[in-house]
Amino acid sequence: MDVKFKTFSVYLKKVFKEKVYRVTVDAGFTCPNRDGTVGSEGCIYCYEGSEYNREKRKKSVREQIEEGIEKAKKRYKAEKFLVYYQAYTNTYASVERLKRVYDEIKNFPDVVGLIIGTRPDAVSEEIIRLINSYADRYLVWIEYGLESPHFKSLQWMKRGHGFSDFLHAFNLTKNYSSINICVHTILGLPTETKEEMFETADILAAMGVDGVKIHPLHVIKGTLLEELYLNYPFPLFKEEEYIDTIVDFIERLHPDTVIQRVTGEAPEELLIAPVWCNQKDKNRLINRIRERFVERGAFQGRLCKFC
Ligand code: SF4
Repeated sequence: MDVKFKTFSVYLKKVFKEKVYRVTVDAGFTCPNRDGTVGSEGCIYCYEGSEYNREKRKKSVREQIEEGIEKAKKRYKAEKFLVYYQAYTNTYASVERLKRVYDEIKNFPDVVGLIIGTRPDAVSEEIIRLINSYADRYLVWIEYGLESPHFKSLQWMKRGHGFSDFLHAFNLTKNYSSINICVHTILGLPTETKEEMFETADILAAMGVDGVKIHPLHVIKGTLLEELYLNYPFPLFKEEEYIDTIVDFIERLHPDTVIQRVTGEAPEELLIAPVWCNQKDKNRLINRIRERFVERGAFQGRLCKFC
C-alpha cells in the first residue's frame, strides 16, 4: 500500500540505500524527574522496566551493542545499524561520561548512526556540541520527550519541565544543523480537547521539527497512572477515534517531518487500558492507520499551515 506519510524506514532507505536496524541500549543513566532533582516519582506513566530491562542494565554498553547487532544480523540479515540510547535520560551525566558512553559506537564499524533520547531540561550547549561532534561520521538524531506543549498537560503528567525548556533545548540544538530533532508527543491526554491536540501538531509544523513519535495515552501496570486511572477513571481513546485523530494530526504536520512512530503499545500482561494498545496488535493498528489515510484521501501536510 502506498503510505501517505513519511515513515522512518523509507527515510532511512533514502539516506543509506539499504535497510538499517536500530539497536537499543540502556546505558545505566537515571532521570532528574526520578532522582529528586526536579521530581522523585517520575512522570505519571514512567515504567521502571521489566525483568528483561533490568537484566539488560547489568550488561555493559559494548555488550549490549554487540548482542543487538548479532541478533539483528541473524534475524533480519541486517548489515548496518543505528545505536539508540533509549532508557531514561541519556544526556543526564557529565560531558566526560557521556563521551565515554557514546564513543562505544566507534568500536563497531557497521554502526552508521546515533540516536539519543532525552528530556528537554537535560541538555546544555556543551552536551549539544559533543553530540554534534559525531555528525561528521554518523547520522545523528536527538529525541526530546515533550509529550505536549500545553502547561496543564505537562503538569498533569508530572513531567517536571515546561514548554519553555523545550524551546530552549530546541533552539540550542537547531544551532547545529547536522543534528536531527525528533519530538515525542502523546495523543488522548484527558486534559486536552482535540483542538488542543491539533494545536500541538501546528506548533511542531511551525517549528520545523525533523521527526515526531506519536503515542496514544495508555495505562501500564505499576505506574502512577494506573493508580490514578483505577481510582478516578477518565476516558481513553477508542481505537477508531485514535486512528482518525492521528490521521488529522499527521495531516497538520509538515510534509518533510519524518513520522517515526504512530502508536505506543505494551505486552498484554502489563497493559491495563485501552486493550487495543496490546503489543501483539501493533502491526494491525499500523495497517489500519495506513488504510484510513487512503479511505479518507488524506496525506501528511494536507492541512499544514506552515508549508
Ligand atoms: S522523563 Fe522518562 S525516565 Fe524520566 S520520569 Fe519521565 S518517563 Fe521516566
